[in-house]
Amino acid sequence: MARIHGTEDDRVNCPFYFKIGACRHGDRCSRLHNVPAFSQTVLIPHMYPNPLRQAVADKPEDVQHDPQKMEEEFEDFYEEVFEEFASFGYVEEMHVVDNLGDHIVGHVYVKFRREEDAEACKIGLTGKYYKGQLLKPEFSPVTDFREARCRQFDETKCSRGAYCNFMHIKEVSRSFRKELLRDQDDPSSSSSSGSSSSSDSGSEDDGKEMIGEDTDERDTSKASSSVDPSESSASNPQAPNESHDAIGEPAEEKKE
Ligand SMILES: [Zn+2]
Ligand SMILES: [Zn+2]
Repeated sequence: MARIHGTEDDRVNCPFYFKIGACRHGDRCSRLHNVPAFSQTVLIPHMYPNPLRQAVADKPEDVQHDPQKMEEEFEDFYEEVFEEFASFGYVEEMHVVDNLGDHIVGHVYVKFRREEDAEACKIGLTGKYYKGQLLKPEFSPVTDFREARCRQFDETKCSRGAYCNFMHIKEVSRSFRKELLRDQDDPSSSSSSGSSSSSDSGSEDDGKEMIGEDTDERDTSKASSSVDPSESSASNPQAPNESHDAIGEPAEEKKE
């Protein structure tokens, strides 16, 4: 049973929900969508207001797309929500999908290092609004995004287009993502490790106040020293600076 759980051979549990956290049949699916009671990953459905969706809804030919402007707007969105998530705890991965299917459009997945931070995020965002949209965060069974993402899309071009049922993950540049991951404070680990970083004892409060502020104020050496290496290696075999690889481009940055 455990071996076939969530695979095509599993006639009970929905493999799409299990792998991708979203299934086009939704509540009417003939197989079970087992929403986990706890997870490191929180899904905020439809949080990203994909401009292409509007274009599809209106007449596409009426909408002007400036690719560079769209990319800049996306990076602004990415940074803004990343920092919101990071205020709850250390974020290991964050993914925004570019799919346009109704069941998955605009989904934002955030994977925390600790389940309790994911829980705080879920509680903290429930009932909040982002750009006029009510957020309905939920725990997601997805923790391995390599299984969830569409290989065709990552490698070249997906023949199923934007209505593919696997994740088409919208990329930001690797350096930009690396910077966001690296600049995180890790309030939970510095408070639980107590005096180990005594010179940074005020960093917890500073970290909160920095949310939404000018990123230029960040001191990267301070951010990295506030991570307790013993704790991070215990809960995560990867070194903090390598964790961006988990977000991974299997095909190594072809798209940039
Ligand atoms: Zn399903
Ligand atoms: Zn695809």
